[in-house]
Amino acid sequence: MKIVIIGNGIAGTNAARFIRKNSDHEILMISSESEYPYSRTALMYVYMGHMKWEHTKLYEDNFWQKNRISILKDRVIKIEPDHKKIYVQSGNEIRYDKLILATGSKSNFFGWPGQDLNGVQGLYHLQDLESMESRTVDGIQRAVIVGGGLIGIEMAEMFHSRKIPVSFLVREHSFWSNILPAEESEMINRHIRIQGIDLRLGEELKEIKGENKVECVIAKSEQIIDCQFVGITVGVSPNIEFVKNSEIETAIGILVNNYLETNVVDVYAIGDCAELRTPNAGRRNIEAIWYTGRIMGQTVASTICGNKKTYDPGIWFNSAKFFDIEYQVYGYVPTKDEKTESLYWEHKNGLHSIRLVYNKETEKILGFNLMGVRYRHEVCEKWIKDETKLEKVIENLSLANFDPEFFNEYESEICHMYNQRFNKILQLKKTRNLDSALQFLNS
Ligand SMILES: Cc1cc2nc3c(=O)[nH]c(=O)nc-3n(C[C@H](O)[C@H](O)[C@H](O)COP(=O)(O)OP(=O)(O)OC[C@H]3O[C@@H](n4cnc5c(N)ncnc54)[C@H](O)[C@@H]3O)c2cc1C
Repeated sequence: MKIVIIGNGIAGTNAARFIRKNSDHEILMISSESEYPYSRTALMYVYMGHMKWEHTKLYEDNFWQKNRISILKDRVIKIEPDHKKIYVQSGNEIRYDKLILATGSKSNFFGWPGQDLNGVQGLYHLQDLESMESRTVDGIQRAVIVGGGLIGIEMAEMFHSRKIPVSFLVREHSFWSNILPAEESEMINRHIRIQGIDLRLGEELKEIKGENKVECVIAKSEQIIDCQFVGITVGVSPNIEFVKNSEIETAIGILVNNYLETNVVDVYAIGDCAELRTPNAGRRNIEAIWYTGRIMGQTVASTICGNKKTYDPGIWFNSAKFFDIEYQVYGYVPTKDEKTESLYWEHKNGLHSIRLVYNKETEKILGFNLMGVRYRHEVCEKWIKDETKLEKVIENLSLANFDPEFFNEYESEICHMYNQRFNKILQLKKTRNLDSALQFLNS
């Protein structure tokens, strides 16, 4: 059987790896972006000089040949499911028995006047990194970044690392306030400003001006900002233009059931480009993040190799870095929800915080939001999965912590907060070593 995978991101790569692990099928993985799979999340570190491009590769170059996974650098331009064929830009047609679409995302552009000028771009593909680099070499006195999400703040940090002044236009009145609770969002506002970034909250792009190259932007407030670069980081959407001209059903992404099957037999979609028709409760139809792509790749591989599996994204997890502040979220952390309550601790230096979200009525733990403090993923996940009561979590909080710097301070303070709120006299168990955590995980 011949399996063709379009896309060599984390989803496509994982599908290929696990198909090989489970079978002897012929595998071909195609990408127009790069010959070898690399870590998209590491793009910023290449620009910042922390890594070389070679170091971002997911595997050694000989891994693919050794595992009999053929790779092809080309662009797929057409799919003909009736004949089980795809067509690539170089002019060839390729037959398949099973087809996996793993084409990822592309940066959003909302049709602003001037968005096609030289010096305006998003940050998603390797080619974006290359053009950012060459525009930097040409000389940027100021960059304007439009859109306050994870990619926008990464771009701000990238320019900051090269001492290029940045104006950061964020439509919301506080950074990423549609995702982060108010205190954490405010912490990041402060932190962005401390870096010297010109953070403009409640501000939007109206127009970009210039002859051939960018010369300035005009914001909604009519303020003019002179600049030589405009980063558009207003989210991403599925990269599926060529799929739309086929019988494969699409909405925003490629529609799939819980087996990741499209409406066309033997065609699957995974990763950022897949849109689940019926996602699990509390989850979104499209989740454009690394770990869900990884799970989808493994799931589809299992199905194709004869062990039909439904996609299970598990407990929500995400992580990022906002300049110096590391962020981790496990489970449900709403910005506002009447049914939940949280215990929130913040270090006096305003750079570290811990939030424990629980159900008001049942007092079961629902989620953890961590800024500048690291918690053990597996421990938090187990507490959430087991619907553990807040009291038990607090008592054993040391099990989750592997950040020695803040041990004593926060654990006792959170316990004190808990005791005050619930009128209790709970004592912390000081069981913070790895052995205790492992014992707990096996219990
Ligand atoms: C700068 C940046 C930072 C990020 N940081 C994080 C993070 O910290 N944590 C996190 O969870 N997520 C992060 N993400 C998101 C994460 O990287 C993506 O969710 C993930 O990489 C998507 O993987 P994928 O396999 O679905 O698709 P992709 O990685 O997008 O791979 C799809 C590939 O298919 C190729 N392709 C598309 N169409 C065709 C075609 N017609 N022919 C041939 N090839 C085609 C594309 O060029 C691309 O190479 C970040 C994203 C970016 C851009």
